[in-house]
Amino acid sequence: MTTQSYTPDAHRLAASLAAIYAGHPDTRGLPAARRVAVTAADLLPHEPEADPAAVNAAALFHLAGRPDDPARAEASAAIADAWLRGADAPEPFMASTRAAILGAWGVGDDDVNGRLLWHAAQLDLASVERHADYLKDVPPAGRAREDYLSAYRRECLTPALGLRERLSIPAAIEMYGARMSRLAPWLDDQDAALVPGDWRRLSEIADIRRGVERLLDGEDPALVRSEMPAGGVPYAEYRGQQRAIIAGSHERILELTHARIEASRNVAAEKYLESDTIHKPAVEENLFVGARRKARQLGLSTETAEDIARLLLSNAREVQERTLNDIAQRLSRLHGQILDADSPETRTEEADMAIPSLVVRTGDQPLARENELIKELRVTGLNEAYPEQRARFAQWFETPHPYILTGQIVGSRDADLFMQALADGQRCRVIATMATDGPMHLGHGALGNLLIYFQSLGAEISLGFRDESGSGEVARQTMCDRLLTLAANGLDLERTDAYLQLDRSAVVETAFALGEATPLSVLNSALGLRLSSSATDTFLPLLRLADILHVQQPELGGPCRTLVIDGIGGDVYVRMARNVAEGFGFVKPSALYLRMMRSLTTYDDPATGSAVEVMTNAVPQGRIAYDDAVDDIRRRVGRAYTGGRRTLEEQRKLGGNPDPRVCSVSSLHAFHCTPDGDAYAALQERCRSGDLLCGECKASALDKLLEYFEQRHEARSRLPESVSERARALAGTAR
Ligand code: SF4
Repeated sequence: MTTQSYTPDAHRLAASLAAIYAGHPDTRGLPAARRVAVTAADLLPHEPEADPAAVNAAALFHLAGRPDDPARAEASAAIADAWLRGADAPEPFMASTRAAILGAWGVGDDDVNGRLLWHAAQLDLASVERHADYLKDVPPAGRAREDYLSAYRRECLTPALGLRERLSIPAAIEMYGARMSRLAPWLDDQDAALVPGDWRRLSEIADIRRGVERLLDGEDPALVRSEMPAGGVPYAEYRGQQRAIIAGSHERILELTHARIEASRNVAAEKYLESDTIHKPAVEENLFVGARRKARQLGLSTETAEDIARLLLSNAREVQERTLNDIAQRLSRLHGQILDADSPETRTEEADMAIPSLVVRTGDQPLARENELIKELRVTGLNEAYPEQRARFAQWFETPHPYILTGQIVGSRDADLFMQALADGQRCRVIATMATDGPMHLGHGALGNLLIYFQSLGAEISLGFRDESGSGEVARQTMCDRLLTLAANGLDLERTDAYLQLDRSAVVETAFALGEATPLSVLNSALGLRLSSSATDTFLPLLRLADILHVQQPELGGPCRTLVIDGIGGDVYVRMARNVAEGFGFVKPSALYLRMMRSLTTYDDPATGSAVEVMTNAVPQGRIAYDDAVDDIRRRVGRAYTGGRRTLEEQRKLGGNPDPRVCSVSSLHAFHCTPDGDAYAALQERCRSGDLLCGECKASALDKLLEYFEQRHEARSRLPESVSERARALAGTAR
C-alpha cells in the first residue's frame, strides 16, 4: 500500500507542470493532460483496483514528452520519473506511475492504471474541448492548412467516431455516448471548410480502408464483408479509397496476384483433370487453345497465357457456385418457413440450419469444397483453416489424436458438450456407421482408429452396418470380417455395440416413429428429393436418423450424450436428428466430421458426371483394402494421383502441393503412414519446399503401408477364438 500512502505536493506539482509544458512544442499539452486527469478521476470509482494517486500523476505527465518524438511514451515516463524522484516519491509509486503512462499509450504490460488512463485519454478525443483546441490553431489557407486539417481528421475526428468498439470499461462506454451527443451538434455547427458536412461517414470510410487492408493481408473475404458497415459508401468513393490503398501497396498486390495465379493454376488443372461438371473439359481445352493463340499474337509466353486462362476459369467457377448457393439458400429460407410451421417446437435457428443448399445436398466434392461446406453448414471448423479453434478443441484431450492435430478432423457440432460429459464421467456414446459395400479399406480403417481412440477414453461405441450388398448373408459376412479387422487394429468388441441395421428392431421401430413425426416437406427440403425419387429414398434417410437416435431408447440405456463421427456430408442427418431429438425425449447428438481419405485415382461417376474424390469401394482402383494383394497395393501407390508438378525440375524449384485433399499420397501419410503431427508437418514442409519428390514420398508411404498391413494381418491371425465368436455373434453369422 506504499503507493497509496504517497501523494505529491499539489502546489509544487501545479507549478512544475506549468513550467514543464510552457516550453513544450505542443501548446495544448497541459490543458489536455488536465482534462484527461479529470476524466480518469470520474472513471476511478468503476475500477476499484486502480491506484488514484498514480493514475492522477500519470495523467498529468503522460503528454510531457515531445509530440514529434517516436518514443514519446517512454520520454513522458522518464520526465515523470525525474520529477517524482526530486519530490522524494517512493520507488513503488514511481514504478506504478511509469507503468500507467506506458499503458495510456498502449505500450508495456497490461496494467490496470494504464488501462484506465488509456480509456480516459481516448475519451478526450470525443470531447468538444479537444476538437475546439485543435481547430483554433488552423493555419491560413494553403498547403499547410490542408495538411493540418487532414491531420485533424486522421488523428482526432476519425478515431473519435470509431471509438465505441475499442472501449471495454462500461462506464467509459456510457461517457462516450454522452460526449458524442454533445460533440455531434458542435461539429454540425462548424464551418464546412474545417469540418466536412458529412463527417459521420469518415468512420465508415475508415472501416472500409481497414477492410481492404485485411483483404490484402489474405483474410477470409466473407468474414471481412460481414464486418463492413451496413449502409455502404457510394461506389465511386469506395473505389477511390480502394485505389488509394492499392496504389500504396503495389508490391504486396503483385505478390498476391502471383500467389493467386499459382493457386488457381492448381485448382483449374485439377478440375480439368477431373472434368468438373460445371466446365466441360472440351470447353476448357478450347479456352486454353484460344489463350495460347492470343499469347502468340501478343508475344506473351504460352505458360502465362495458360495461367491467365486458368485464373479466369477458377473465377468463373467461383461465381457460378456462389450464384447456385445464393439461389439454394433463398429456397432454403422458403422451406425453413415450412419447417417452422410443421414443427412449432423446432428452434428457428436450427430450422434455418436444417436446410442445406442444393449444392451441399448433392454431397458433391466434399474434399475440394470442404471449407465452403464448413461455412455454409455453420459447423465449427477444425481443419487447417481454423488453427485456433482446433487448438482449443485439442485442449479437451490429454493426448489428442493425431487426426485432431493435423486437421483431418475438419469440423464439429457441439463436440465440447460431449467432451464435458465424458470428462465428468457420464455415460457417453460414440456413433458411427459403415455401408457393407465391399471389403474394409483404409478409409474405414481411419474411422476405426477414431473409434478405438474414443473407446480408450471411456466412451461406449455404437457401430451400425448398413446393408448395401442386397443380400443379408453377404452383409453379415462383410460385417463379421470388418469387425475382426477392427479388433486386430485394437477395437475391444466386448465393449462395442455393433449391429446390422435391418437386424436391429430398435432402429426400424425408431425409424417408423421418426417417420410419423417428419413431414415429407422436411425430408424434401433437406435432401432435395424429387417427384421421380423412389419411395425407398424417403425411408433410407429415416434409417440414418434412427442409427443416430435409437441408441438413446430405454432398452439401450436411455438418453445420454452422443457423438456422431461421420464425413461432413453426414451433417444433414445430424442436423435433422438434432431438430427432432428433444421432441422424443433424447439428448441432441453432437458430431465430429472426419475428412475422407482421398481416392488414389481421378475418376468421374458416369451417372452424375462428377469426380469421385474419396476412397470408396465403388472405385476399386482408387482404394486400398486390408485384404488386397501386395502387388496390387504396390501398383496403386505407384500410380497414385499426387499434388506434384509436371516435371521434376519444376517440382524442385516450386515445390509440390501436399494438401491431403489434393494429393492422395499425402492423404495416405496423414491417416496411416505418417500420422504423427510433427512428422507429417515436416513431410508437408519438405514437399512444399521442393526437397521431397513424389517418387521418394510414394516409396516411403508404400514401405510404411506394407509394414502396417503385415502387422495387422499378424495381429488378426493371433486374435483369440473368443473375439471371433463375439464378432460372429454381433454379425449373426454361423461359424
Ligand atoms: Fe504429394 Fe508427396 Fe508429391 Fe508432395 S511429394 S505432392 S506430398 S506425393
